[in-house]
Amino acid sequence: MFISSSPSILDSPIEYLKGVGPVKGDMLRKELNIFTFRDLLEHFPFRHIDKTKINNIGDINFQTDYIQIAGTLLGYETIGEKRARRLVAQIKDKTGILELTWFQGIQWVEKSLKTGQEYLVYGKAGFFNGKPQITHPEIEVLTPHVSDGKAFLEPIYTTTEKLKVRGMNGRQIGKLTSALLPQVTEKDIPENIPQKLVEKLKLMSRFQAYRAVHFPASTAQYDAAVKRLKFEELFLAQVRFNLTRVARNRHSRGVVFEKVGDYFNTFYNKYLPFELTNAQKRVLKEVRQDVGRGHQMNRLLQGDVGSGKTIVALLCMLLAADNGYQSCLMAPTEILAQQHFNGLRNLLKNMPINICLLTGSTKTKERREILQSLADGTMHMAVGTHAVIEDAVEFKQLGLAIVDEQHRFGVAQRAKLWRKATVPPHILVMTATPIPRTLAMTTYGDLDYSVIDELPPGRQPITTVHRNETHRAKVMDFIREEIGKGRQAYIIYPLIEESEKLSYEDLMQGYEQVKSYFPEPKYHISMVHGRQPAEQKETNMQRFVSGDTNIMVSTTVIEVGVNVPNASVMVIESSEKFGLSQLHQLRGRVGRGSEKSFCILLTGSKVSNDGRERIKIMCATNDGFKIAEKDLELRGPGDIEGTRQSGVLNFKLASIVNDKTILEAAKLFAEKIVEADEGLNSAENLPLKSFLQSQKGKTAWSKIS
Ligand code: ADP
Ligand code: MG
Repeated sequence: MFISSSPSILDSPIEYLKGVGPVKGDMLRKELNIFTFRDLLEHFPFRHIDKTKINNIGDINFQTDYIQIAGTLLGYETIGEKRARRLVAQIKDKTGILELTWFQGIQWVEKSLKTGQEYLVYGKAGFFNGKPQITHPEIEVLTPHVSDGKAFLEPIYTTTEKLKVRGMNGRQIGKLTSALLPQVTEKDIPENIPQKLVEKLKLMSRFQAYRAVHFPASTAQYDAAVKRLKFEELFLAQVRFNLTRVARNRHSRGVVFEKVGDYFNTFYNKYLPFELTNAQKRVLKEVRQDVGRGHQMNRLLQGDVGSGKTIVALLCMLLAADNGYQSCLMAPTEILAQQHFNGLRNLLKNMPINICLLTGSTKTKERREILQSLADGTMHMAVGTHAVIEDAVEFKQLGLAIVDEQHRFGVAQRAKLWRKATVPPHILVMTATPIPRTLAMTTYGDLDYSVIDELPPGRQPITTVHRNETHRAKVMDFIREEIGKGRQAYIIYPLIEESEKLSYEDLMQGYEQVKSYFPEPKYHISMVHGRQPAEQKETNMQRFVSGDTNIMVSTTVIEVGVNVPNASVMVIESSEKFGLSQLHQLRGRVGRGSEKSFCILLTGSKVSNDGRERIKIMCATNDGFKIAEKDLELRGPGDIEGTRQSGVLNFKLASIVNDKTILEAAKLFAEKIVEADEGLNSAENLPLKSFLQSQKGKTAWSKIS
């Protein structure tokens, strides 16, 4: 079957549409990114109003939201000076008088108003000086509608102030779409989902959906159109992910770790300090399968804070060594790299394994030696920051790269790493904090995916409480008690992004205050913040790690990964200023030993609703996966790290928060289809294939490796 890609009317420049022309065309391009007929078609209305449903002015009350009024214009005038200048008009129906106000585009609106004329007015009702009014209403001359008793759902579109005053308000854009739609044929909007699936899921056809999303005959029809289009968006994204993944899994070359050898076995049987959890074992198995196939592994490992990702990383690195390959582990900060290095070196102390630490502050001489040993292959493992992927670093045979706390490593940095070997090394990316499943599916959908969904045994849940600042003295007393039991405490100050200086001052003040609560010489306090030189940071951190200091006062530099099992109290100052995942990360610094731990969230007395909600969630659960879900619900995907370049935000209709069910279905069917026919060559899949090909270059596919 040959599918022609003959030019479609939808590719026509927008100015050629009836009612547009060069001037409006230019504005549509600038204001709404609408360049072609297709762009206009894909500019979906955000709501519909039933044109046959007219409200009475007399019924407007304080609960009234959006309303539609039909009435006669009594008159209008411009009042006020300069910034307070506004156009005020009165419109009257049988039940009362409504005031309409414009602050912008006054000249334009004025021109279109005619006293005595009947208008249809739509907008959000409110009260001003006790009188009902609408600011910046959508207004048009009232024309009789052929309504044959049915609703007439009129689309309302997103627009901008500039367009509004040029005769393209949310309502008037509908004139353009209604001029466009009759010209569009089924050929312009061919079906792109395999017919069987369309039937199975009872989806509206693509052609019909594009029409109905703009001009539905009923609410039910609109809903069906939206469902179809959402499914399409999610399904296409999932098909792409699956194609990328399958292609990489089948066609990429990867080094083969065929055996489990002495390094792994000796360590596992003699030096592993604890029994692995079932989840850890399962992940190891998944990794082993990946690295044995001869194709490059690209795996995302998700696990809650404290779930034990590090040991899994180490075992994978031993597997590499068993097969004659080097490996590296990269962390986002020096402190964390240092700590990983200390931890791993300690675990490996009785093993004939060479492991080094390579960071920005590694001294020249040592650095030279390390580079030499990596190049000649005598060094088995490198732990470090992104210094490991600098161009000067050469490996003899890099077989595995592990990226801890993944979201801080950009795509470009990872790409650098891939270039370190002729056959690309296996990649294991470990996340800092869980991400919701839906987000993982849409953001990292082309990676294989493992989860550690179980904490090591014997952990006591952390008790989290919310306290007002005025109770700080009591909180300090509590810290004193815990220190008396031999424990340690963290006190964290927020890093205010807009003002580093302010954060720094807060921290300093806090530090002095803490010192004044603990004046006795037996108390030792560490302080760590971003302005310290790396060395000083390191020393202060190290003193806390080794138990020389009882209290660590710091900004969020200690946020990720730091492991001091003896610490049992985490106090977070101005905790309302932190995001959920950050709070969860911070809290994860305690509760790492067998002792009962506490997290105290301090706030002022004025806390926003959102802040209050976050604190409530933190007090209610320790489960990072649940917290991640809530975080996504509260903030939406746009503000969650890692989603910016991922395409999640490019969905026009689908939302990973509200459309979970559709997403699950899309994923399931996309997997099935690609699994059965990865070339999409069957007659049934050809329309899908040709559609995807026609899209190439239009969408930025997120490619991790
Ligand atoms: P994260 O997943 O946050 O990186 P870590 O790897 O730092 O967690 O592990 C947290 C703590 O749990 C460490 O002290 C580690 O030694 C310990 N740990 C890891 N796995 C187990 C296990 N199976 N049993 C007991 N303790 C474990
Ligand atoms: Mg970790």
